[in-house]
Amino acid sequence: MAIKNDVIRFGPAGNSDSFYQQGYKSSVDMPRWLHGMGLTAYEYTCTHGVNIGEDTARAIGEEARKWDIVLSVHAPYYINLVTKDEDKRAKTKRHIMDSLKVARWMGAKRVVFHPGSCSQMDRRTALEIALDFLKEILEEARDFIEEGIHLCPETMGKVNQLGTVDEVLEMCLLHESLIPTLDFGHINAMGGGSIKSQEDYLCIINRVKEVLGEDRARYFHCHFSRIEYSAGGEKRHWTLKDTQYGPEFEPLAEVLASLDLKPIIICESRGTMAEDAVRLKEITLQKIHLFNAGIL
Ligand SMILES: [Zn+2]
Repeated sequence: MAIKNDVIRFGPAGNSDSFYQQGYKSSVDMPRWLHGMGLTAYEYTCTHGVNIGEDTARAIGEEARKWDIVLSVHAPYYINLVTKDEDKRAKTKRHIMDSLKVARWMGAKRVVFHPGSCSQMDRRTALEIALDFLKEILEEARDFIEEGIHLCPETMGKVNQLGTVDEVLEMCLLHESLIPTLDFGHINAMGGGSIKSQEDYLCIINRVKEVLGEDRARYFHCHFSRIEYSAGGEKRHWTLKDTQYGPEFEPLAEVLASLDLKPIIICESRGTMAEDAVRLKEITLQKIHLFNAGIL
């Protein structure tokens, strides 16, 4: 399984406001721009549909290789594995296959997707439908998987969405190529503020290790941002400066340092995702330094 990263990588989901303010217009310029900031990952977002052409995707891929930026693709929000309706299933399949194709053009190795909605069903029934459908999709995606592209189901932030940590891990059990996307802002929002300490992060990582083994617990895909929530879960993404919203990144950085984890960490702050990704990297490097010095 070729999911191993040499180092922890940091980057944004999509393009920061500052990128456009500096006069840039095309994502083809992002890899060089990110490299200039000291970042090493970039999640290309197809969240409102897969609209990118092959030439642009290939150009982004070439730039990314030139500037040592690891690429991932975020598939459309419209994906829903929890349906038996043939028409809706065809649409979901198309969104996933289109995202895989974009990943192939770019040379991206990870495609992140949201599992779907529980609607009025109990969670177990919803999960069974999703698992069944995901099996069918994996069959259709076999060529992409053999090329080393990983589908990465994401933990979700709203209570009515499918995607608790355990639900995502159960999906990942279907095939060894599936990598969990741990979105700690989402996990915290769904749990009504469940992430407060190093212990809370450790508990989640240990659960991944217990269910999926060492490799996928070490090289997982990560989304991080501060997220506002209400009783139903996720309400809104904020930036690192909006400290009234959790979760805190520092205790996660301590866990990354002490367990020598190598995830790809994608920052989803609103507007300042690249700047905040730099900050996440700084915090992590500082914790690794302290850990190596025996202080942590
Ligand atoms: Zn997402």
